[in-house]
Parts: sequence; C-alpha cells; structure tokens
Amino acid sequence: MDKTETPNAVREIRINPIVPSESVLVATARSLRPKKAEALVPRDTRKHVETCPFCAGNEAMTPPQIKSYPSDGTWSVRIVENLYPVLGDDRSNPNLTFGLQQTIDGYGRHEVIIDHSEHGTALHEMSEQHLALLFRAYRERMEQLYRSNNRLRYVLVFKNFGPAAGASIAHTHSQIIATPVIPDNVQAEVAESRRFYQKNHRCIFCSLIDEALTFEATIYDRESGEIRRRINVGQYVIERGQRFIAIKPFASRYEWEVHILPLKHQSDYLRVSADDYADLARIMRRTMARLESVLGGVQYNFFLHSLPHDAGCEECDASYHWHIEITPRTSIPTGFELGSGLFVNTVAPEAAAEKLRNAAID
Ligand SMILES: [Zn+2]
Ligand SMILES: [Zn+2]
Ligand SMILES: [Zn+2]
Repeated sequence: MDKTETPNAVREIRINPIVPSESVLVATARSLRPKKAEALVPRDTRKHVETCPFCAGNEAMTPPQIKSYPSDGTWSVRIVENLYPVLGDDRSNPNLTFGLQQTIDGYGRHEVIIDHSEHGTALHEMSEQHLALLFRAYRERMEQLYRSNNRLRYVLVFKNFGPAAGASIAHTHSQIIATPVIPDNVQAEVAESRRFYQKNHRCIFCSLIDEALTFEATIYDRESGEIRRRINVGQYVIERGQRFIAIKPFASRYEWEVHILPLKHQSDYLRVSADDYADLARIMRRTMARLESVLGGVQYNFFLHSLPHDAGCEECDASYHWHIEITPRTSIPTGFELGSGLFVNTVAPEAAAEKLRNAAID
C-alpha cells in the first residue's frame, strides 16, 4: 500500500468552485492510479558547474542580459533573453491561415530569470531575503513588459523544476512569457470570478480564504435539527503568514497542488508592496520545504495568475484575486484524462494537506 493512501477511500468528482470546467475526479482506489511520473533522478546539488551557462562566472555563455540584481558586482538574480524563445518579434515566416485554420502572430517575449547564482540550490534552500528579491524581480519585469508594448495582453511568470516538470536546464530558473492573447485558463478564472461577484458582491477567492480560516463547519439536518456532519474546514490551510496563506484546494487537480494567495484582497501582482515580499518569501519557502519533506526530490511547476491588464471589465479589480499555483508532478496524464479533460487525483486532498501540515521543517 502506498504511504499516501488514506484509510477511507474517496471516489467523487469535485467541482472547482472558481472554474467548474476544471473539476477533478478524486479517486484514491489503487486500480485507478495513473502511471508514475519519470523515475526520480538524484537532484544535482553542485554549487558550480563549469559548463552551465546559468552559473556565476559563465555570464558570457547566456544570450544578452536584460537585468541583474544587484545591477553591478556579483549578481544574485539575473534576467536574460531565452536562447530558444517560443514567441518573438520575428516576422520572416508569413502566417499559415486557410479555411477554418486561423492563426495569430506568435508575437511576444520569452525570457529567463536565473533564480540563483548557485547551480543546484533549490527554492526551499534559498534564504527568505533571496526569495523576496526574486519576487521583486518578477514584479519589476512584469511591469516593464506590460509597459513596453500594448499588444502584450498577458505576462506569465512560471517555473519548471525537474525533468518531470519540463525543465531542460538543471540550474534553477524561472521564465517569463508575454503573449498577445490572454490565456484561456486565466480568462476563465477572470470570467467565472466576475460572475460570482455579480451575484454575491464578494470575491470568490476571499470567500474561499475565509472558509479555509473558519475552523469548523457544522452541517445540521434541516428537519430534525440534529448534527449531520462536522467538517474541519481549517484542515486545508498549509501555511498562514501575516499577509499570505498557502491552501490545499478542495478540488486539487494535482495530488500535491498548493495555492498561495494574499490574505488581503488584491487583483494584480503589480500592486504587491515592498512590505509584502518578505512574508510571500516566507510562505513560499516553508511550503516548498513541506513539499520536499513529504515527496523528497519534488519536481514541480508553479505559475503566477494575476489580473490581465486591459481585462476589459470594471469590477474585475474587485472580483479577481492574484495567486500562485504550485503543481508538483507526481503522475502523468493518462488517456482518460486527455480524452475527458477530467483530471484524476489519487491522493485525497485532506490526506495530502495533513501530511504537508505535519511535515517537519525548520
Ligand atoms: Zn548552473
Ligand atoms: Zn479577493
Ligand atoms: Zn489560477
């Protein structure tokens, strides 16, 4: 029996409260378990690798630098052009458009943020001061990109860590892609949270945080008045800081998925203040340390969802709430998932949350 198996098997479709179409089948029965992700490869923990273009001292091996922190002397975080950009301003190939097949220019920006000058330092091993600097670098570059060209509708910051998460270079790094379209999943979050706001005059993300911070919910039988079920709602909170919270979503599509959100309503990551970085860094470091402690050699993606500029709606500032989604890769999608669009999660989110909360970290 897998050590993550819960004593009470769960088999239910959980509706994502924000985007119902992103619902998940939680099935902890063994027979439904998807295939394991790539076998764990030992993480490269070397501090310096002679041939690595992202290592300190090898600056000449990267494409042109956009910015470094600090701007002179030894850098801690460095932003460079991507050697193989998926988007750019190159117009040498005309678009292929015919019949029903339409295209949009692959116009945009694709950049790399070298998270740390040391090769094999994982996020949970970085100091909180360093992580605060990294979060500042994300914000500043996002802002510059939005300002640089009004054709850029969305700036996505994300990170792939480990081969199972699609990282092609071992040296810890994040990426920024600025696109001429708003990604569908972001658009769906914006539209659905707006719908909730119009009906309830509240931000759904704030409502979910409030719900998670309510220690216990009691469900009474409508007729007899007897207690039918007590739910410990607070069990989904993984970390709670002064300004940020890490929550295990009730309808997690990935076994060990965790979201980080500001406790106070804020739609746009660009409004994060200098005072916020320290607590955001602390919550991120502690959450990653918990994932590492439970999973050992965690391979993951994370991405930042923030209100698109020019979202085209007045109330979206009140209805949308920026967040970071961390999605550890412990399984690969099967034909069922690709064919149905319904993700299968084989670890009950309550069990995963309990393990994460109980993990020993410094
Ligand atoms: Zn390196
Ligand atoms: Zn909110
Ligand atoms: Zn999101």
